[in-house]
Amino acid sequence: CIHFYLIQGAHTLTPLWRSYSSAAPATKLYINGKFVESKAKEFFDVHNPATNEVVTRVPLATQDEMEAAVTAAREAFTTWSQTSVLTRQQVMFKYQQLIRENIHELAKIITREQGKTLVDAEGDVMRGLQVVEHCCSITSLQLGETMPSISKDMDTHSYRVPLGVCAGIAPFNFPAMIPLWMFPVALVCGNTYVFKPSERVPGAAMLLVELLQEAGCPSGVVNVIHGQHKAVSFICDDPHIRAISFVGSDQAGKYIYERGSLKGKRVQSNMGAKNHGVIMPDANKESTLTQLVGAAFGAAGQRCMALSTAIFVGESAKWLPELVERSKNLKVNAGHEAGADLGPVISPAAKERICSLVQSGIEEGANCMLDGRGLVVPGYEQGNFVGPTILTDVKPHMKCYKEEIFGPVLVTLAVDTLDDAIQVINENPYGNGTAIFTTNGATARKFTYTADVGQVGINVPIPVPLPMFSFTGSRGSFLGDANFYGKAGVNFYTQLKTVTQMWRETDVTPTQSATAMPV
Ligand code: NAD
Repeated sequence: CIHFYLIQGAHTLTPLWRSYSSAAPATKLYINGKFVESKAKEFFDVHNPATNEVVTRVPLATQDEMEAAVTAAREAFTTWSQTSVLTRQQVMFKYQQLIRENIHELAKIITREQGKTLVDAEGDVMRGLQVVEHCCSITSLQLGETMPSISKDMDTHSYRVPLGVCAGIAPFNFPAMIPLWMFPVALVCGNTYVFKPSERVPGAAMLLVELLQEAGCPSGVVNVIHGQHKAVSFICDDPHIRAISFVGSDQAGKYIYERGSLKGKRVQSNMGAKNHGVIMPDANKESTLTQLVGAAFGAAGQRCMALSTAIFVGESAKWLPELVERSKNLKVNAGHEAGADLGPVISPAAKERICSLVQSGIEEGANCMLDGRGLVVPGYEQGNFVGPTILTDVKPHMKCYKEEIFGPVLVTLAVDTLDDAIQVINENPYGNGTAIFTTNGATARKFTYTADVGQVGINVPIPVPLPMFSFTGSRGSFLGDANFYGKAGVNFYTQLKTVTQMWRETDVTPTQSATAMPV
């Protein structure tokens, strides 16, 4: 979409949100409807994970800039919260169309900054787009309740009203989907927003706000600041911000939940995961192994719903050699290269951490049946590549089991019974997602009801719910009350107001003031 670009020189197209004034391009802030150059003194370099070349520099926004973003959001709230629900719905209708039209451009940006394959990056956009599409039904989602004649001539009704200025803090692994879990839901309910993308992948979010502006969203309704801890603490502390959506690691999630809650804000915090797939001996072998490989290694394992732990029950452990053979066939390459199944991991530090967790597993007695650590991709020798890796004979006390690896590493355990598998899952502190592969309905039903995990898949490896439901991680994977998107998302971004009114055709003046509680 050419009109999103300023023409600079004969052949250079520069997105509005990026500036090329210094040697390395700096990403801009988006405040009160304008893409502005930050006056920051400190920057964070964003690297292409396939090459480690610097793609852009992200400013760590100054205090004044962050305050300006909140001021813009506060001012916009006075008018935006009063717009008709149909106006907000129309913005969403246009927005979903613009996202659809720009899906390839968004995917290219995601692949360049995050590393995932182009086709997976399009999936990232699509899953976020579905949330925007669901926001188009706000006319039903935000309906209140009413009860006529709760007393003589008296009726009560409740509204779901917006909160005010809300904020979102996003992780690196879904540069489009997760921002789209946040600000569209907030603003369609009548809130305004301050958004902080992951400093490692700012580009998709910047194009998304540019498209939002084109969809007719007024200035100040959504603002973007960049930064790290200081920006996060600012969001937690600013007295005008009423609610915070966070998705990311445990450390940051707990910190934001505690600090934000202490300041009286609503916080929803989606955090880390260790998702177990249970493979029963009666499962359909072909489809189970195919699904397992995709769910463990897709996106280089950098999905919070990646099926990173497989529990083989009884005889199904015999399928391990075949699982290894299939995993070997995956093509690891730069995400934009045709035929790539998985791209690099986000940073050299992430690669090092992943490799050291694999090593710790070996040292603690696990068997490395497939080792992707030494992989070098021709043409991308500087990239952060790790090939599919499979550890077997893993035990729950091992570090590689206890920690979220967040890389293309599948740890596998073997147990005798379904009950043993469920026990392992329920003793793990995380509760994001899980899946069982079986052809037995009773086994599936038992698993569904006894696995203490938010999102359960039956022969579905990554059971992320569509937005008519909500993302329902639980236990150590979630802090808060209302979950992301769906009805729960609307509840998170609204509060109830009840109105009780009395209208009488002939007003009867009471003879005496009632001092007792009316019943
Ligand atoms: P991260 O916690 O490092 O970063 C997330 C955000 O928090 C970023 O915007 C970052 O600037 C900020 N941040 C980072 N460290 C901070 C700190 N110490 N204090 C304050 N703010 C901080 O997470 P990430 O590495 O970008 O993302 C990967 C993690 O996110 C994984 O643990 C993954 O499981 C999790 N995740 C969870 C879900 C879910 O829905 N449960 C979805 C996606 C990712």
